[in-house]
Amino acid sequence: MTRTPSAERASAWNDPDYCPFCGAELTDAGAGFIDHVDANAECGERFEAWLEAIRDDIGGEWGG
Ligand SMILES: [Zn+2]
Repeated sequence: MTRTPSAERASAWNDPDYCPFCGAELTDAGAGFIDHVDANAECGERFEAWLEAIRDDIGGEWGG
């Protein structure tokens, strides 16, 4: 199985019910995750790094 670093990052979030960084169960996928990273600085830092990596991968078209 071929796994590039970017594919690994993209697949890190394969279960939106759980934090992909620490594995904590989220109360509500999406909004719950934002609350979670607000309350967990370490996850917040990793989330920001993950977002930057994704931005690099897709050429800056993230957001909107
Ligand atoms: Zn977490």
